[in-house]
Amino acid sequence: MVELAPYAVTETNSRGRMRAEASPHGRSEFQRDRDRIIHSGAFRRLEYKTQVFVNHEGDLFRTRLTHSIEVAQIARSIARRLHLNEDLAEAISLAHDLGHTPFGHAGQDALNACMKTYGGFEHNLQSLRVVDLLEEHYAAFDGLNLCFETREGILKHCTADNAMQLGELGERFLHNKRPSLEAQIANLADEIAYNNHDVDDGLRSGLITLEQLATVPLVARHLREVRQAYPDLPERRVVHETVRRMINTLVSDLIQQSENNIGKSNLTAIEDVRNAPELIAFSAEINDQQRALKKFLHTHLYRHYLVMRMSTKAQRIIGDLFGVFMADGRLLPPQLQSPAKQAEPDRARAIADYIAGMTDRYAIREHRRLFSVEDMPINF
Ligand code: MG
Repeated sequence: MVELAPYAVTETNSRGRMRAEASPHGRSEFQRDRDRIIHSGAFRRLEYKTQVFVNHEGDLFRTRLTHSIEVAQIARSIARRLHLNEDLAEAISLAHDLGHTPFGHAGQDALNACMKTYGGFEHNLQSLRVVDLLEEHYAAFDGLNLCFETREGILKHCTADNAMQLGELGERFLHNKRPSLEAQIANLADEIAYNNHDVDDGLRSGLITLEQLATVPLVARHLREVRQAYPDLPERRVVHETVRRMINTLVSDLIQQSENNIGKSNLTAIEDVRNAPELIAFSAEINDQQRALKKFLHTHLYRHYLVMRMSTKAQRIIGDLFGVFMADGRLLPPQLQSPAKQAEPDRARAIADYIAGMTDRYAIREHRRLFSVEDMPINF
């Protein structure tokens, strides 16, 4: 095994778990975190949650589950090359989207609007809520009781108000400190994964075309290379070959630039990482190209009229469900009846937790059960 850098997170320098537990046998603390995440209910539900395309639109599109696995793969490769803690980078990556609502960002925006007067809704904070509180699996504690560094990595951003309520975990947002390099890697691995797979899914869906994408420098360069080297390659393979080369370019650039940044920073311990600026980064040139791709996807894919039509339906579903449960808590399933009797902010939070935990198809079905007149008298 390659030795870790002195500024990597290790079991020895970890700040540990909220509740002390005996050390695991035959695996590291961070491997145990990863295993707990994989065995959680929220992780299994990622299979039926939207990334961009609603789950039932096609079997080949990414879901939050396949997205999270791709993020973990990219993060592990980078962490290994930089002699950082691969298991931690993997655990953070697999957990980073656990708090996502059904229907992707449209769902998150709708739930945030519903929760406006009750403290808002933020999927990132919700991921932390899932692993700290909402998973009900273990006899001795609520949540998964993960290590500080895994939780720190899950909480990518946070408002000052929320940070103040999070104790040790919120401190870095108030004192302008950075998380571990492993957390920084998981964050950028997320960007690499979604930009590239959204190109792939966007093309597969037919909502964007290779001709349009040829105006984006990062794509154009690799597309040209592939077409020159393989003039007769069928289009699907051209796409895959282009995307794989783009991922490779981004990962290699990130490793090289981060190595340079780390080399200049005289890091000797994890605390130096927290006090330094963000060291995991793309070069300026690749950063610009990556931004241009993001902008393209924003305009041509995420704002495509067919995606917008789906988003507006999704927002209606979330808004309707929240409204009907707030108006009459007796409509909630039995396990939520007692939280629903609490005073308003707590009631709203319990309903938001319920809705955020839904998969796309469960939310659609729940909406149909509550609103469809055709389903009368009652269709369970
Ligand atoms: Mg993500």
